[in-house]
Amino acid sequence: FFSLSLQAKMSRPVQARRLEGIDKNIWVEFVKLAATYSTVNLGQGFPDFPPPAFLKEALLRALSEENHMLHQYTRAFGHPPLVKILAQFFGKLLGRDLDPTTNVMVTVGAYQALFCCFQAFIEEGDEVIIIEPFFDCYEPMVKMAGGTPVFVPLRPKAPKDGKLMSSADWQLDPTELASKFSERTKALVLNSPNNPLGKVFSRGELELIADLCVKHDVLCISDEVYEWLVYDGKEHIRIASLQGMWDRTVIIGSAGKTFSVTGWKVGWTVGPNRLLQHLRTVHQNSVYHCATVAQDVVAQGFQRELELYGKPDSYFIQLSKELQQKRDRLVQSLDAVGMKPIIPEGTYFLVADISEFKSDVPDVPDSEEPYDSRFAKWMVKNKGLAAIPLSAFYGEAHKNHYNHFIRFCFAKEEATLKAANDILQNWKREKTSP
Ligand code: PMP
Repeated sequence: FFSLSLQAKMSRPVQARRLEGIDKNIWVEFVKLAATYSTVNLGQGFPDFPPPAFLKEALLRALSEENHMLHQYTRAFGHPPLVKILAQFFGKLLGRDLDPTTNVMVTVGAYQALFCCFQAFIEEGDEVIIIEPFFDCYEPMVKMAGGTPVFVPLRPKAPKDGKLMSSADWQLDPTELASKFSERTKALVLNSPNNPLGKVFSRGELELIADLCVKHDVLCISDEVYEWLVYDGKEHIRIASLQGMWDRTVIIGSAGKTFSVTGWKVGWTVGPNRLLQHLRTVHQNSVYHCATVAQDVVAQGFQRELELYGKPDSYFIQLSKELQQKRDRLVQSLDAVGMKPIIPEGTYFLVADISEFKSDVPDVPDSEEPYDSRFAKWMVKNKGLAAIPLSAFYGEAHKNHYNHFIRFCFAKEEATLKAANDILQNWKREKTSP
């Protein structure tokens, strides 16, 4: 009798149904792999160079000062100095008056900002349009909220005259995009500059998206964490600044990407109160509040950047200049060995074509795992070089269409990029020597 009742109890699933099918996570898997094998890690997206000196100094000052209150709770929706400067800064960028208490909310990284958006806006049965390839967490977060992701791919066009491909060659098909909007569509996620491709959406592309959002009364969750990382004189255009978009857009940003401090996990949302009031409800009932010291120091960073806005000493300008050089260095290394790079217009990522390396890692017919995923694992183990398979940034239906690319992160010290170059050169030499 006892064992029967025990059995009945144990057959009941412990986990909530909303967790079904979202238990795997590419980062957990690849971070573990990179830690297990001795690797040059161009996988996960974080800088291995130090954050700017002014930010480290501000942190030291915050810790050495007598203001003990920086170690205690602060305002739930954002430390007052941080929301104040963010309202000023983004107010200037957007050309509108922003209220620090209602138009800005600080989050635990952009990641939690995304989570708040999906929890606040998405109901059972709602559809969310996601442009592929996409930062992978959008899909499970939509599902966890009870929504259905609807994917629409950027389609690559062959570049002219044997030139290297650019992220600008990956474009939405306007008819295909329009066909994804329906009465069930509640939101669209835009990520420009885009992780993983580095695509910076043009004004025309943003207008196409904006017109559809307005026509179908759809919200836009605009993940702009790489807003300062744009190259070759490109301009990052905020979709919230386009006609009819402010009222339906939440802008998401990250101090991790902005000031090269991904470990601090300070992010923010900027938008109209009619949207942000619901993000505050999710925030106060989950995380409630983010680390005070980190918020205080990020506020000081923004204060500096506001004073230096557009000037050569601005960190935002210097960082993108430095990263552009690193991008060019990695483009050169990859191109020299035939791992064709797609030149990114923004972000610190670069996607490369591994087709010419297929003979080194033979395909396994009928394998469920996309080819690029097996290739990336093989490369970590056998070459000591870590990158992320592009298929990880696609929904199930397209994983095997875009399975011969891998993503590298080039926010790395010169020595790291050189080590990666050495690995690629040696590999090429082994391939070509009889
Ligand atoms: N959005 C995108 C597009 C990202 O690439 C990342 C980080 N890789 C995030 C959001 C999360 O940012 P954070 O570290 O601030 O949570």
